[in-house]
Amino acid sequence: MDKFNYTPERLNVLSSGGGTQSNAIICLIHAGVLPKPDIIVMSDTMREASNVFTYQRDHIAPLCDEIGLEYVIIPKSDYATHDLSISPAHAPLPGYFTEMNGRKKTGYCSGKQPAFCSDKWKKEVIQRYLNQRYGEKYLTRRGVDMWIGISVDEAARRAKTTKGKWRRRYPLIELNITQPQSVKLVEDYGLPTPPRSLCWMCPNRSDDMWLWMRDNVPEDFERACLHEREIQKNWPHLWLTKYGVPLATAPISNGVTHG
Ligand code: SF4
Repeated sequence: MDKFNYTPERLNVLSSGGGTQSNAIICLIHAGVLPKPDIIVMSDTMREASNVFTYQRDHIAPLCDEIGLEYVIIPKSDYATHDLSISPAHAPLPGYFTEMNGRKKTGYCSGKQPAFCSDKWKKEVIQRYLNQRYGEKYLTRRGVDMWIGISVDEAARRAKTTKGKWRRRYPLIELNITQPQSVKLVEDYGLPTPPRSLCWMCPNRSDDMWLWMRDNVPEDFERACLHEREIQKNWPHLWLTKYGVPLATAPISNGVTHG
């Protein structure tokens, strides 16, 4: 396994998404393969799928407690400047599917909106929390290494900026670990298969993921259907899936990826 280059002079923070890769990093910390960061912080978007927090509480918190590693979950509403959008006149933050520019020959939406929700609901929330907790000047002086759970097969998702006060670190990429290896790593550590971490209304879900939610967590699926109807009161051209019909009646089927 490759080595992680730890820089203890900076504040080391695991920015947990609560999903597979973050859980794999926590197992590696618990096993002593990765060093212990100063703190783990997760932003609760207030729309996180129900099984994510259950898994954190039942399986991840005990590991952190055992090694004396603080894991803080911050309600997004305490630090975010706004929720779905600045105002009804502005586009909402998530990257919903849109029929604003018409539809394809298939009848599907012609594209997706740009997404800013992850930055506004997670990155900025965690930065504001850390600035408040440790002091903005102190953190500017010391610098922060933000550990992000992106695996080597998803390396294209990583931000290019790895300098400055908020330096991004990718332990799984530095250790050359893939997403399937992350799942296996957690399972081999004796924990149940970790859930994917996504908001229940996230338009990035594949059909498989919508079907899984519909069949296994129907209350989340119902919330998503309701959310779609709610956003359409202000933005009638937006949809949760590319099909551009109500989620409850969308022809979702196995093996279809949305993008
Ligand atoms: S999971 Fe989806 S909806 Fe939630 S913050 Fe991330 S991109 Fe946005």
